[in-house]
Amino acid sequence: MKEGIHPNYKECTVTCACGNTFVTKSMKDELRLDVCSACHPFFTGQQKFINRGGRVEKFKKKFNIE
Ligand SMILES: [Zn+2]
Repeated sequence: MKEGIHPNYKECTVTCACGNTFVTKSMKDELRLDVCSACHPFFTGQQKFINRGGRVEKFKKKFNIE
């Protein structure tokens, strides 16, 4: 690794709106995020996404499960 290519990069503490924090490299001392990998809708909303559109309800009706 050659030094001096990214002279302004330093350890950056990232704080997410969900409370999660982690350290990365950035030109800033700290960053604030609205979402991170721990609270991103892709992960937290996955169950809701599957149920969207009433697929489960249609499935229940089709097989008379109630
Ligand atoms: Zn988060």
